[in-house]
Amino acid sequence: MQVIFHSIKASLCRCQSKFSQQSSSGIAVTLGITGAVMAINSLGWLQLLEFQAFDLFTRHQPAIEQDGRIAVLEVAEKDISALGRWPTSDEQLAELLEKIHDYQPRAIGLDLYRDVEVPPGLTRLTAAYNAMPTLIGVEKAVGQTVPPSPVLESLGQVALADLVLDPDNRVRRSLISIQSGPDELKLGLSTTLALHFLAGEGIEPEIVGDASETVRLGKATFEALGDRSGGYQGIDSGGYQVLMNYRGGKAGGREVFPTYSVMEVLNGTLPKEALADRIVFVGVTAPSLNDDFLTPYNTSFSNSRHNMPGVFIHAHFTRQMLMAALEGEGLMGYWSEPWEYVWIGLWAIAAAGVSWRLLQSSHLRKHIPPGWLVFGGTITLGGVIVLSGYGLFFLGWWVPVGAPLVATMALSVAMVAYQNQVLERLALVDELTQVANRRQFDRVLLQKLQQQKQVSLILCDIDYFKPYNDTYGHQVGDACLTQVAKAIRQAIRRADIVARYGGEEFAVILPNTHPELAEEIGERVRAKVESLGLEHRGSQISPYVTLSCGVTTVNGGKFPSEQAVLEADKALYQAKHQGRNCVVLRLGGCDAGE
Ligand code: GH3
Ligand code: MG
Ligand code: MG
Repeated sequence: MQVIFHSIKASLCRCQSKFSQQSSSGIAVTLGITGAVMAINSLGWLQLLEFQAFDLFTRHQPAIEQDGRIAVLEVAEKDISALGRWPTSDEQLAELLEKIHDYQPRAIGLDLYRDVEVPPGLTRLTAAYNAMPTLIGVEKAVGQTVPPSPVLESLGQVALADLVLDPDNRVRRSLISIQSGPDELKLGLSTTLALHFLAGEGIEPEIVGDASETVRLGKATFEALGDRSGGYQGIDSGGYQVLMNYRGGKAGGREVFPTYSVMEVLNGTLPKEALADRIVFVGVTAPSLNDDFLTPYNTSFSNSRHNMPGVFIHAHFTRQMLMAALEGEGLMGYWSEPWEYVWIGLWAIAAAGVSWRLLQSSHLRKHIPPGWLVFGGTITLGGVIVLSGYGLFFLGWWVPVGAPLVATMALSVAMVAYQNQVLERLALVDELTQVANRRQFDRVLLQKLQQQKQVSLILCDIDYFKPYNDTYGHQVGDACLTQVAKAIRQAIRRADIVARYGGEEFAVILPNTHPELAEEIGERVRAKVESLGLEHRGSQISPYVTLSCGVTTVNGGKFPSEQAVLEADKALYQAKHQGRNCVVLRLGGCDAGE
């Protein structure tokens, strides 16, 4: 009874230690892969994936109503035809501005480069500029520069038209300002117009704290974008930049702003309320003038018709600033890097846990192959990650989605591979002694015989093992088998393969080994086991556990493996008959002298 109890306990312990060994390897795999994904992420290799997520979420933001505070006057292709020339003359531009001014807008953003005179009409245009203190013209100050209109510059009515492109050439950030001199700040067009509007509401920007990075504007607090904020990994975040939060549904974001043609103003057909008390942007949308940009609204399948004219991008950011300052919403936030890594790590742990549970679930595995189970689990978890990312984006947070997805996929693949490896190992290794099992022995012997010219084989059998079991019990017998297996492993060479052939019999395959050397190794094995000094009171030949070995060498090629084993068995039988604890060589299967 006690013996049964002990053996149950022993097998339980074995299971437990194997389980903890497996799970610690699983944890090591999880940590390794998560670390690798984080490293890849910090190198910026997943940035494009994060951009894809940003764009997808932007396109699926709920549609909003038109913003009545902003209007866009566009110069489309048909307007250029109607005007008869482009750039339009100073005279025509002056007329247009005067007419817009008559609508009494809050401010006018003239998103046209007018650095050189386009005669005739400079005098009239200069007068118009002078009469409109809320008219803002543009210059381009970063990269290829374009100077402003000298008149507007002297009036201090110039802002930046620069747009900032991401590494994939899309506009997701807006330039609030750049430092153009020790005490000189140049503001972006959208910012300048938003500030004009907000000044009318009594809202002025104030710098918070010592660093000028944090600016409070009404209900909003603006933080300058860093080079690793959100999904970015090492962008040029020069100047003061802020992440854009386009709103407008799938259609491309233009419909958020009431848009009219400049010709409607020139012809006097535009009703008064269209521009009154609004921020009015004037800009070109004609494709022939190439002032359009890639934005999150461009999908991989869309063509350039979906590009957004620069003037709309400015309008979007002005709207975002107004929303933020007046209603306290619309600014995008992001987590600090350590929290992003915690987030990625948690998803990785979830992915590893889900895959592991699915692979362990014998109930599910009865019905679905493990690979498919994990695939299904991964797809589901991936969906949850994307939905969580979208939910947070909706709440105004840009968090990593690509990195957790990659970690999830990599971990699922790794878990399946690891599980297969474990199963394969279990199928080929003897559970008690941890050497190859009979199945593996048969496979390897066949393979070596096919590949090599000469293969030697040792078959070993523990002497008087039945009396050993009878004397010390089965459990001690098991421990003895384990020690003998270990001793054999230590006595042979690296290329040799030891297997448990049967109950207390072991076999060693010696690839490319001639008989004399095989016999020598057999002797080494025998001596090693004897030198363990394992007490054996039931043995009739020695006070210790001993081994009898039969050795044979066979030619490779077509020699049948069963025959090779039979030869070694005959040698072993001879060794038993010669008194045990000895080695016998038998050359039945190889050419003499080889
Ligand atoms: P010989 O010197 O002629 O080999 O005598 P023997 O007693 O070793 O030979 P026999 O083949 O009669 O006995 C082998 C014994 O090995 C019988 C069986 O109880 C024991 N045995 C086989 N497998 C295991 C095992 O997994 N664990 C333990 N403890 N004993 C085993
Ligand atoms: Mg035996
Ligand atoms: Mg025996």
